[in-house]
Amino acid sequence: MHKNAAMQKTDIASLGEFNLIERLATLVECAQPSTVKGIGDDAAVVRYEQAETLVSTELWLEGVHFDLTYTPLKHLGYKTVVAGISDIYAMNATPRQILLSIGVSKRFFVEDLEAIYAGVKAACARYGLDLVGGDTAPSMTGMTIGITVIGEAPHDKIVYRSGGKKTDLLCLTGNLGAAYMGLQLLEREKRVFEGHSRKQPQFQGFEYILERYLKPEARKDIIDAMAAINLRPTAMIDVSDGLASEVLHLCRQSQCGARIYLERLPIAAETFRMADEIQIDAVTAALHGGDDYELLFTVPLSSYDTLRKDLQNVDIIGHLCDASEGAFLITPDNQAVELRAQGWKKDEADA
Ligand code: ADP
Ligand code: MG
Repeated sequence: MHKNAAMQKTDIASLGEFNLIERLATLVECAQPSTVKGIGDDAAVVRYEQAETLVSTELWLEGVHFDLTYTPLKHLGYKTVVAGISDIYAMNATPRQILLSIGVSKRFFVEDLEAIYAGVKAACARYGLDLVGGDTAPSMTGMTIGITVIGEAPHDKIVYRSGGKKTDLLCLTGNLGAAYMGLQLLEREKRVFEGHSRKQPQFQGFEYILERYLKPEARKDIIDAMAAINLRPTAMIDVSDGLASEVLHLCRQSQCGARIYLERLPIAAETFRMADEIQIDAVTAALHGGDDYELLFTVPLSSYDTLRKDLQNVDIIGHLCDASEGAFLITPDNQAVELRAQGWKKDEADA
């Protein structure tokens, strides 16, 4: 096998596409009863008894969705899977199979793909997923990863964005803005590396926000916990593009308005600390930063006691209301700020 002498890495061309796939396939083993046929034929075959099949797909482009100067390939593999299955959990369903498609340019070697697959494998093991296929192709412009997730749920368990009612409580798992702040920290370190800044990178004390960006988790735990206490949300969506835009999606599809209360927004201490250090408003990061992979859902008022008593790591951040009342953030001094879906672009926060 041809190894690149300097880097001790294997050229993809020297292996050929067929052998490459075979080598990657050895990294995974199918364990799900619903997987009838995994990697190796023209299509995978899955079987679900008495359940709906859910399918979701995501595209990750280098330079747009990830930056390999500070994202380890193993973490990238893990994160793409987490992002993919988060959408399935947001339907109150169980992800079972994934397909992973990769576009690779000449800068990458077999070992790089193996690093990505090590992350994919770790995510598959943690969440009980089979990798059942994908596609591999040369790319002219860096790396591209496509992740498709197949999942299942009984039809009466599926939760759509559209089921919210106007007196429902608006609930949120975990906390917001941490991944965005982790990204800001990594971007700052990158600028130091490129010589554009004299400030030294300081990762110590910021492990949590870095982990939230580089190795997020999907909220399988909350889906399981809600199933265990028989609590089925009326509407649900995962928070991947900032809370504000997800609240608006849920409102639009449920034909409701919403009130969320600023002092109820869960923000971690480290998120505040980083926000302070780089002079960004932590609440803005919570509302518009991405990559949280938390769940935003609604339950009827009558579920309040169950929610408080039997469900950990969930905050009630507000409630739905009549569509005519719009969607607003209420500040502690009782001002109403209209929610807007402005995604926050990377360089806007770079100042
Ligand atoms: P085809 O020419 O029919 O697309 P491929 O040679 O691309 O066939 O794929 C052969 C098998 O390997 C299929 O089962 C496919 O799903 C799987 N496969 C291809 N690329 C990947 C990949 N990057 N990760 C996982 N499985 C893959
Ligand atoms: Mg193919």
